Amino acid sequence: MPTKPLERLMFAQGGLCFFCNATLAKAEASVEHLVPTARAGSNSDDNCVACCKAMNALLGSMSLKEKIKVVLNQKGQFKCPNGAGHSAPKPAASPKAASSVADSIISAVVENLRSRGSSKPRKVKTLTSTIKALAQLNLGDKDVQAVIEHLKSRGKIKVSGEQVTYKL
Ligand SMILES: [Zn+2]
Repeated sequence: MPTKPLERLMFAQGGLCFFCNATLAKAEASVEHLVPTARAGSNSDDNCVACCKAMNALLGSMSLKEKIKVVLNQKGQFKCPNGAGHSAPKPAASPKAASSVADSIISAVVENLRSRGSSKPRKVKTLTSTIKALAQLNLGDKDVQAVIEHLKSRGKIKVSGEQVTYKL
């Protein structure tokens, strides 16, 4: 069992920073007094946590109330202010791109592809240029990609390698 306060606290916290939950390197770790010693906080473990040095410096001699406010202000996205080399768990990526295409564009593309009957583009490349060639839509490369992604995510087209199959 570690006997030094810092080592003991780090052990008790599973090697993680008390505030940001990131793995705490010993060189980056420091003992933070929740109630500061300047405000008569005790030196015992029930008033101390191990945390990133940068966090300790930031909290300094704030009162416990102010510290709690700092934590709450992060709205569950807490990251100690020491930047690189320190990774808190990231929130799950939100689905993007697909929803950024207007429904009217999607239905215009689907309509056009349907009208082609059995002579639809069979390759991703030709599908791309076909969509881009729809002059009335005037789509840029990124928009065309987004349309294709959208069609894929809706199951309207299936892409395997270069081949495209349709379920419009
Ligand atoms: Zn931290």
